[in-house]
Amino acid sequence: MANKKGRAILFPGSFDPPTLGHLDLIRRAAGFFDKVYVGVLINPYKKSLFSVEERVILLNRIAKDIPQVEVVSFGGLLIDACRSLGVSHILRGLRDAGDFEAEVKVAQGLKVLDPALETVFLGTDARYAFLSSSMVREVASGGGDVTAFLPDGLAAEVAAKYASREQ
Ligand code: ADP
Repeated sequence: MANKKGRAILFPGSFDPPTLGHLDLIRRAAGFFDKVYVGVLINPYKKSLFSVEERVILLNRIAKDIPQVEVVSFGGLLIDACRSLGVSHILRGLRDAGDFEAEVKVAQGLKVLDPALETVFLGTDARYAFLSSSMVREVASGGGDVTAFLPDGLAAEVAAKYASREQ
């Protein structure tokens, strides 16, 4: 389905925090979709480092040079978010066999719920194959430097977040 802005895809995730792996996927998807919605999932049951609003701000900042990108947040069902945005493609990244196993099952389930939905998988860039938001949080929570894992400026945000928690 094309929305009014052309071929559009939704990249849903937690992005807590967004990493260089996420940014690489967003940039690559923008190479072949007219519109890339980056959707921060509102999950009241999952404790997060950054609030949903903060993650939207961070994603807007790191993707500001990619005109196709629009950052949104959504709660509830992914298929409902796709319908309201007018997209029929979902973007997910694959780092390893674990991602593959989990993501293909989700994509198959989504297809049962809405046969028009296609999940597009992009394999990770080898530089980021090991990289996850949870790993970044783990390193940063121990006081480690996460600059090499994050888009410019975000390491300071992450460090500040942990510092404010300690007070
Ligand atoms: P979720 O909680 O939905 O998995 P994440 O923010 O952890 O949210 O990840 C969102 C998407 O980004 C997932 O499809 C994940 O596989 C992908 N992703 C995360 N890190 C990387 C990376 N380093 N390389 C490629 N894809 C990644």
